[in-house]
Amino acid sequence: MVFQKHSSKLLCRGCFADDVRLRIYNEVHKYSMFGSGEKLLLAISGGKDSFVLFDVILKIHEPSKLGVITVLEGIEGYNRDEDVRWVIESSKELGIDCIRTSFKEVVGYSLKDLVARSGRSELNVSPCTFCGMIRRKIINKFARELGYDKVLTAHNLDDESQTAFINILRGDLSRLLQSHPKGPKLSELFIRRVKPLRKVYEWECALYAYLNGFKFQEVECPYITDRPTLRAKIREYLYKLESIRPGTLLKFLNSVDDLIIKYFSTSDNLPHLPTCSYCGEPTAYDRTICKTCELLIKVGVVL
Ligand code: SF4
Ligand code: ZN
Repeated sequence: MVFQKHSSKLLCRGCFADDVRLRIYNEVHKYSMFGSGEKLLLAISGGKDSFVLFDVILKIHEPSKLGVITVLEGIEGYNRDEDVRWVIESSKELGIDCIRTSFKEVVGYSLKDLVARSGRSELNVSPCTFCGMIRRKIINKFARELGYDKVLTAHNLDDESQTAFINILRGDLSRLLQSHPKGPKLSELFIRRVKPLRKVYEWECALYAYLNGFKFQEVECPYITDRPTLRAKIREYLYKLESIRPGTLLKFLNSVDDLIIKYFSTSDNLPHLPTCSYCGEPTAYDRTICKTCELLIKVGVVL
């Protein structure tokens, strides 16, 4: 039996799995995340959240309209070839296109190399900054060039509530809006990213994956301790609140969603983003070179 603290329900294994799936479908439906005819690219890293995304979406979408992308960052002992083998093999069996690529193939350097270069140049950019920016860019480019309509990522409720909280604390309204499923699309070059698991707790993803036979080899990224300290602190703070008052994360993200829908529906009128003079991808309003290119140039990567 599974005790779901946030709902005070005691569920059998089957009902727990149904509950997780139902909440994902409700979220997809509520925000019209994708339609039945759309081509979806699933961004898969190989962990438990990726497993849940793959398993649940396969139950509601035609495999011929699905694709999978997995990007190996090149972090020693983490997100290795063997961690994504299950998705490559399952995709092959189901006739789903699967793209396996890496930072090394696209940028010319692994994340480990970039971190070393950053240290040598005394830039001190956190590995997570390189990692997030480059991965997002690679996935968006493949999705666009291969004609996908949407990119689906496996961010869960814990990830999303931390991100919303950070954006509120920083007063970064633009990012807060952009992370909402109905947020504005600020460039035609962006393929919309949606996050079907955003109302499912991380522990629920782990349990769903375990109950469905997913073999855990969850190794923590060695750079996790370098994560921006604000996120680490917010994470700890939110977990404390959740343990005192179960359901806090869910209520918080639901409230943020409702506020955005109620008060910011005109945000589609925002002007489109300019493009980077190096890579041609969208960049922030006040920039001519995107942050990724700027950092890569600073660590001596020739573009
Ligand atoms: Fe990338 Fe940072 Fe996550 Fe490691 S912890 S995978 S470096 S974003
Ligand atoms: Zn650029």
